[in-house]
Formats: sequence, C-alpha cells, structure tokens
Amino acid sequence: MQYAYFQKRYVPIDDAKISIMTHAFNYGTAIFEGIKGYYNEEDDQIYIFRLMKHYERMIKNCKILKIYLEYSAEELAEITRNLVEMNNFKCDIYVRPIAYISLEKVGVRLPEEHDLCIYTIPMDSYFKSDKPLRVCVSSWKRIDDNAIPGRGKICGAYVNSALAAQEARDNGFDEAIFLNDDGHVSEGPGMNLFMVKDGVLRTPPVTHNILEGITRESIIEIAQEELGVSTFPRAIDRSELYQADELFFCGTAAEIAPIGSVDHRPIGNGGIGRLTCEIRELFFKIVRGKYPKYNKWLMEVYKRKGVELTGKRY
Ligand code: PMP
Repeated sequence: MQYAYFQKRYVPIDDAKISIMTHAFNYGTAIFEGIKGYYNEEDDQIYIFRLMKHYERMIKNCKILKIYLEYSAEELAEITRNLVEMNNFKCDIYVRPIAYISLEKVGVRLPEEHDLCIYTIPMDSYFKSDKPLRVCVSSWKRIDDNAIPGRGKICGAYVNSALAAQEARDNGFDEAIFLNDDGHVSEGPGMNLFMVKDGVLRTPPVTHNILEGITRESIIEIAQEELGVSTFPRAIDRSELYQADELFFCGTAAEIAPIGSVDHRPIGNGGIGRLTCEIRELFFKIVRGKYPKYNKWLMEVYKRKGVELTGKRY
C-alpha cells in the first residue's frame, strides 16, 4: 500500500482527499516543492538530494501567501524520510509536498486556514531521451515578480509554465525558454538555464523572475569546486542564446538536460558540450552517493545498522 502525509497523519494515499470547495483548488493558493530521491542499487539505499534546502525554501515561500507552517524544516525532512521508508521504494523517487490554503469558502483573499500534504511517486528521468533538447523561445512571457512571484513556487503560477510547455510541444519542440517582459532570458517552465560562453558559465540572476533553483545553486558550487569554472549571473539576451557555446537546463526533475538547438539554430555543434557533459557526470555521481565529499547533500532513507553518516545529514 502507498501512503501519503495528510492532515498531520500518514494515511493510505486513497484516503488523502480534499473537497472541491478547497480554496487552493479554486484559486491556486498553495506552495509546493519537488524533491528527488535516487536509488543506489549497490547500497540498497535511497538518497534524497538536499532535502533540508527544499524545506527551508518552502517555509520561506509560504510567507508570500501568509501561510505560516507549524513545522520546522527538520520536522518536514523527518516526515518525508518516514514516508519514503513506509512506501518501501527501490527506485528513483519524487517527493511532492504542498502547503495549501484549505478553507472551504468562496472568496479571493489569503485566509489563514492551511494544511500540508506530502506524497511520493516513483520517477525516472523527466526528459526520456538522451538526445540534446530542441528548444524554442516561448511566445508566453514569464510572469513578473509583481504579478505572481516566480521564486515562490506558487501552484497557480504554474499555469504560466503549462502554457509555455504545451505550446512548445504542440509546435514540435521538446521544451520552451521564457523571456521576461523586458526581453531578457528568464528560465524554462520548470527548470533554470545555464549558458557556456568563452569557458565560463552564465545564468540569469535571481531577480529575473526565476525560481532560485537548488540544482542551479549546486551546479554553481560543483563547477567552481571541482572544475575551477566560475559562474557569472547576469542578464542574457535572446540572441546570446543562439551564439552560446553550450546551453543546458537544470532542475530537480529535469536534472541536467543539454540543449541542442534554440529556435532551429544549433547550439555549438548541436551535440552535448564538454562542460555540460562534465557537470552532468559529476552531478549523477553526487546524487547517487558515489562522491563522498558531497554526502553532506544526501539524506539516507533506509536506516542501516552500525552505519553512521558523518557531518550534517542533508
Ligand atoms: N524553475 C522552475 C520554474 C521550476 O519549477 C523548477 C523546479 N523546481 C526549477 C526552476 C528548478 O529548481 P530546483 O533545482 O530547485 O528543482
């Protein structure tokens, strides 16, 4: 049986149901997270990647909707570990916590009543093919911080993402890149963007209506520490995308996804660039617990007798 965390209890997932009158269902007034756990067959272990970081971000984001969670990040991490353990997965997984306004009453405000649910599902790679992505610049603009803050991971804001992602697929592309209202590059519908040019990494700054991605932050650290490559966050023009040496998306679900073309213009030689390849290799070693230096970013789900992790656990 699969379990979810709902109304402060672990319950069979079929019992975790909300009313059609729920505020969040009517108005999108909820904050969510997406967290990934990687199964390591050799260790028979699931490693959850940067679990605490995700919950610290979620608690901060909840403030935007005036949702004051009665849980600490540590408590949420422990609930999540318990839940994944109860579900006894032996594969890569995805965790979806949602803090939502739970009042069952019509009226657009930000009422105080809220609840939290968490469910987990098996999940392998988001982009099924290993081929570099064919990407377009979306005709949909990225929502502005003063409309619905992109950094907030607000459920209702993902209509913006869905419009762009669907349009891209309807037009035969794999994914979309958003521009901001001022024409500068923002991000993908569910992923951040990096550009390699002249041996350095560039990525839009956090003030450009992006989600402050945890994968983005991890890549900046890994690239500097392990490859000696610095990242310079700065505004990126649309035409710079066409002239980039390498481009890739990153995110919890998207992982590290090389981009082969933008608006039918090949990036580099259209294949996977050298730096993208190196970063991707490092990333997959780290998330599967095969690079001990970064075990500080992993939380083990299954308790192992006699094994003590050193340092902070996640
Ligand atoms: N941007 C958006 C809009 C997203 O939804 C996501 C996925 N959470 C990301 C970027 C990547 O963020 P992270 O690396 O924290 O998953």
